[in-house]
Amino acid sequence: MEPIRIETVLGPYECQDGDVWDAHIHLWCRPHPDVSTDPDLYLQNEFLVEAELQRFKAAGGGIVVEFTPLDYHRNAEAMMRISASTGVHVLMGTGFYRSPGVDYYFRDKDTRAVTRRLAEEVTYGDDKTGARASFYKWATSLDDITEMEYKVLDMVVEAYGRAKAPISTHCQRGRHAAKQMRLLTQREVAPGDIVIGHLDMIQGLTLDTLLEVLEGGVNISFDQLGKPKYGDDKTKIELIRQLCERGYQDHILCGSDIGRFTCLQETGGTPGYAHIPGKFRQELNAAGFEPDLIKKLTERNPAHVYRSRI
Ligand SMILES: [Zn+2]
Repeated sequence: MEPIRIETVLGPYECQDGDVWDAHIHLWCRPHPDVSTDPDLYLQNEFLVEAELQRFKAAGGGIVVEFTPLDYHRNAEAMMRISASTGVHVLMGTGFYRSPGVDYYFRDKDTRAVTRRLAEEVTYGDDKTGARASFYKWATSLDDITEMEYKVLDMVVEAYGRAKAPISTHCQRGRHAAKQMRLLTQREVAPGDIVIGHLDMIQGLTLDTLLEVLEGGVNISFDQLGKPKYGDDKTKIELIRQLCERGYQDHILCGSDIGRFTCLQETGGTPGYAHIPGKFRQELNAAGFEPDLIKKLTERNPAHVYRSRI
């Protein structure tokens, strides 16, 4: 594997052969109370998360992409401590979740100043900790894309123009995936710098839905792996196989989007942070995927997408 440098919360790191990624995870979350008061979503327990991340490491995991955005109380300090104590490399993002949480966030903020902050977090790092952000996050709602979500799109694209980093999206339950792709590419974001996420957050996902997005040259993320309520891994692995057969093997990322207490093995839940390096890779293997393709899907593709551009 040719050397690829990434910007982790603890500084630059050169990816090593065997560093397995979970390309979408949460180590710390706190929604706005008007968005949700479900205690399951208030993931604020460093010791528990640390122990859970040790399981990821023990299963062969090396790098995680932490997706908690600014309006969900991203916690760079906690990420740095957890990374230092576990030895797992953590990539942080900057940007926002969908409405209504993002609307609350901007009630008392100037969008121009925040746009500057997004770009500065990529170039110089978070103003408190110096931890650099490795990507921008943009999310859209299930029904219409809200006015605030369009504003965030403009902010993220402007920040991208100032400081290049991939733009990773959240499309609620897979809705608006192709529209997100078009809105970003029309604004001259390079397709290779785009990751459309959560397409697999829907039961009954079809190959056509995925192909419509991939035909735009972007990357997609299967990031609900190990969660039966969003479809079983077996079906998704079959879709991944068909996409690879059509030549899209360089554009697929894999993640678990774990951000609830009840998804941690430490609390007796499933699938746990260990899912991607552990069970999911075993499932790929059992489904007949060649070792080199498994490496591509779980090591090389995320390293290429989230590589440092600075
Ligand atoms: Zn997430």
